[in-house]
Amino acid sequence: MKVLVPVKRVIDYNVKVRVKADKTGVETSNVKMSMNPFDEISVEEAIRMKESGVVEEIIIVSIGVQQCQETIRTGLAMGADRGIHVKSDEDLEPLAIAKILKHLVEKESPKVVILGKQAIDDDSNQTGQMLAALLGWSQGTFASKIEFNGDKANITREIDSGLENIEVSLPTILTVDLRLNEPRYASLPNIMKAKKKPIDEFTPDELNVDTKPRLETLSVEEPPVRQAGVMVESVTALVEKLKNEARVI
Ligand code: AMP
Repeated sequence: MKVLVPVKRVIDYNVKVRVKADKTGVETSNVKMSMNPFDEISVEEAIRMKESGVVEEIIIVSIGVQQCQETIRTGLAMGADRGIHVKSDEDLEPLAIAKILKHLVEKESPKVVILGKQAIDDDSNQTGQMLAALLGWSQGTFASKIEFNGDKANITREIDSGLENIEVSLPTILTVDLRLNEPRYASLPNIMKAKKKPIDEFTPDELNVDTKPRLETLSVEEPPVRQAGVMVESVTALVEKLKNEARVI
């Protein structure tokens, strides 16, 4: 079967993000960008599925600016087979991304789409769920274990109260959590090989997808600066402070 792995190009998780002076968003010029860390986990899982013989072809998809092709190449260097780049210079919302992915799913007919549980830039945690709804497919979100069993898959989900085991029917949408696996580094020969793997290019207009924003960002603010701490003289003074001054969270 084919598996589609959407990967987002985001500000690298090591970068200290700064809000733009006009508060319309965050600074992205001259900032290191990388593959969304959760998406590295989904690429790794797809490769393990291929290595175990469950999957025949892995297609990496990225939607966004021209440099998304570098992010696709990272996935190809890890071991994916080919890429699709949907080029857009606009900041697309999860609904627009889900509509584009729906179109690509209809074109490519994968049995499984594996996404990150969330993108670390917008923290939306919406795209996978919206895609499942648009397609009318089953979904297994926050997966920390995935096992295929014929036309079904057993998914262990990380939920607030522990782990939940569910069975989903294929075709399905999966979103991955942090503990699913540890992504591999691409080797130099694989980075060289990835340069020759094909990447198809489209625009949202060519796919006839309405990407009009539904949300308006009013302003983006820096988080409040943390107050300095105080040293207490004794345990009694600490207990006293905790009793009388601690805020209820
Ligand atoms: P979000 O709903 O924005 O938190 O994103 C969840 C997941 O959707 C990400 O981990 C990616 O797998 C996928 N995704 C979101 N935006 C894009 C994009 N521009 N291109 C490809 N995949 C994306």
